[in-house]
Amino acid sequence: MECKKAENEKKCVCSSDTCPRHGVCCECIAYHRENGELPGCLRGK
Ligand code: SF4
Repeated sequence: MECKKAENEKKCVCSSDTCPRHGVCCECIAYHRENGELPGCLRGK
């Protein structure tokens, strides 16, 4: 399976545009899970 970073970035609603995990959902979720947080796209829902 190819990485869908470019495709994901078009849909990502996270406002942290400088984050290196922007559009890399697997790393984004793992990072926030480790910190006991939700990723930006799931916050406030
Ligand atoms: S939710 Fe967190 S890890 Fe994901 S793009 Fe935004 S700042 Fe980066």
